[in-house]
Amino acid sequence: MTLTIPFDNSYARLPASFYARLTPEPVRAPRLVAFNEDLARIMGIAPGDVEEMAQAFAGNAVPQGAEPLAQLYSGHQFGHYNPQLGDGRAILLGETVGTDGARRDIQLKGSGRTPYSRAGDGRAWLGPVLREYVVSEAMHALGVPTTRALAAVETGEIVLREGPMPGAVLTRVAQSHLRVGTFQVFAARGDLGSLKRLTEYAIARHYPEAEGPMGLLRAVRDAQARLIPQWMSVGFIHGVMNTDNCAISGETIDYGPCAFMDGYHPNTVFSSIDRGGRYAYSNQPEIAVWNMAQLATALIQQMEDKNAAVEEATAIVHAMPELMQAHWLARFRAKIGLKSAEEGDLELISDLLTRMAQNQADFTNAFRALGGGKARDQFTDPAAYDAWEENWKARCAREAGPEATMRQANPAFIPRNHRVEQMIQSAVQGDYAPFHRLNAVLARPYEDQPENADLARPPAESEIVHATFCG
Ligand code: AMP
Ligand code: MG
Ligand code: MG
Repeated sequence: MTLTIPFDNSYARLPASFYARLTPEPVRAPRLVAFNEDLARIMGIAPGDVEEMAQAFAGNAVPQGAEPLAQLYSGHQFGHYNPQLGDGRAILLGETVGTDGARRDIQLKGSGRTPYSRAGDGRAWLGPVLREYVVSEAMHALGVPTTRALAAVETGEIVLREGPMPGAVLTRVAQSHLRVGTFQVFAARGDLGSLKRLTEYAIARHYPEAEGPMGLLRAVRDAQARLIPQWMSVGFIHGVMNTDNCAISGETIDYGPCAFMDGYHPNTVFSSIDRGGRYAYSNQPEIAVWNMAQLATALIQQMEDKNAAVEEATAIVHAMPELMQAHWLARFRAKIGLKSAEEGDLELISDLLTRMAQNQADFTNAFRALGGGKARDQFTDPAAYDAWEENWKARCAREAGPEATMRQANPAFIPRNHRVEQMIQSAVQGDYAPFHRLNAVLARPYEDQPENADLARPPAESEIVHATFCG
């Protein structure tokens, strides 16, 4: 068996201003700890033997046909422009066109220093690698557009974080790694040739029907306006919605300090570096609009008639909140069993969320229990639920099959923070059973799995994870 990846690389054909070519830095003793066979199949990848895959996905052996490079980008971090970021610990091996016709990037994350590493060590430790593996695959199973995980390798080396940690490399798969920040870097440098080339490339790769830079802006806005309400509907908090972590494809990207909420509260923040709560749960829609404004600003630089472009771009961005609200409402209607739209639905949903926040209801379990008629147990004061239920029942009477709608909109299983942390602690000790179990259960999040009920339970007081880190 020989690992065969049918590379078809388009990014490497772009001008040299877009990237730095380099090979990954080899690691001491690579060991393959996860390989996503289903994803490999869709991508047209033929798996090799375990040792060969460990070498390839650690970066020790560059597979035939790969053209490794680190991508250049910049971005706003917590609202402040950083003129140069780029892949500081990631290397794009190349792309495949899968059996489904989709082009996908294959990227090693944690593969060593690059010209864009700045003060960083170019590495990743096992915890965040397994966290991204589990959470990104869970997001995919939940139906949320996302980058995916093809493989994880332990490097046999130590990485220094809060202490010495086992090193690891994640193989990440994405429709592309183009970000808002990829446009920003050329716009800020006044490199209009590269900006135009990038715009054409992004349109051809992601939105072939889009016309010109403003058409691209509209398409990305639409994709982001669909994505963020999907996050909201599963209680996902990204944690670092910097413009370099905002994908042009509309996929969720960069699983650093992200987390799913247990108890519902709109102001929830987990990220240890998000001190001001800029990226709190309920701020995510506003931040997405802000990010689209930054994309607009970058794209405009290449337009002949600046005044007309500013006017058009402003209209495109200003339309986003309403678009996003419509998607949000559709998602949350489904969560309470509604497919049809009626006046008053928004108030009904908001009223439930307010009562959930006041009663420390678990976001996932309270919605899931609505379908099963057991939601009142999820409220510290069940009477607060009863008052709402009366209005809800009246509304549901005008709806066909609300139970089926709710089952498809309200997952039973999400990657709960405390379970992810427990999984990491086990893996560090060499026990991968919790990792494999989490992946298997989270692959079917909308199914009742009574035998896995422990993974649906919110954390006990002693298990609560209060902060998450970038890794
Ligand atoms: P992030 O906040 O994960 O989006 O990362 C911001 C920037 O820091 C990106 O340019 C990353 O490539 C870079 N970076 C993060 N961690 C490291 C690391 N350990 N070594 C080098 N660069 C890093
Ligand atoms: Mg990033
Ligand atoms: Mg990151």
